[in-house]
Amino acid sequence: MSLPPCPACNSEYVYQDQNLLICPECGHEWDPNEADEDAVQVKDANGALLNDGDKVTVIKDLKIKGSSQVIKIGTKALIRRVLDKKDHELDCKVDGVGEMMVTAKFVKKA
Ligand SMILES: [Zn+2]
Repeated sequence: MSLPPCPACNSEYVYQDQNLLICPECGHEWDPNEADEDAVQVKDANGALLNDGDKVTVIKDLKIKGSSQVIKIGTKALIRRVLDKKDHELDCKVDGVGEMMVTAKFVKKA
């Protein structure tokens, strides 16, 4: 398993001590798992990063759970919040529907 280079000085001689990665050249210590949790990276159908407040367009018809209503392809939505989840990670306000959770891979940035 190869370790990432030091984010402070780019040294390749990083070593692991329990949960921490340590750089022997500049003394920088960090927790690689903690860094992952900080940055919620949710991507749309094209691989573009989505952020709170982004406007998106639905790229396929989406059935609304527990109803016969469908969100049509091309419907616009506003992302209220991006959540750290496996699916339905976008808390959206969808045009003509209202608030609902949408899966990121079914939208693209408008
Ligand atoms: Zn370093």
